[in-house]
Amino acid sequence: MFAKLLLFLLVFFFIFVIGIGTLARAVRRALFGSPSSANRDNPPGRSSRGRFGNEEKAEHMLPCSVCGVHVPESDGIKSGGKFFCCEAHRK
Ligand SMILES: [Zn+2]
Repeated sequence: MFAKLLLFLLVFFFIFVIGIGTLARAVRRALFGSPSSANRDNPPGRSSRGRFGNEEKAEHMLPCSVCGVHVPESDGIKSGGKFFCCEAHRK
């Protein structure tokens, strides 16, 4: 009898805790909106970073001294004050 009561209380407690947990999350989202606002902040941040990355690459594009192809500074090779698109053109 007591065992059944304990089991019932345990199950009831679990349901209660889960219910409170989901309710608390819902209330937090409704009041503070911290998870949703964080999600809202991240995508523009990522996209702006991507735009900045492209701008940085565009800014640092340099023409190869041999073939004249514009290559990102980080992808090319600087040697003797000249810029080259690849190792083959440096030689
Ligand atoms: Zn080249």
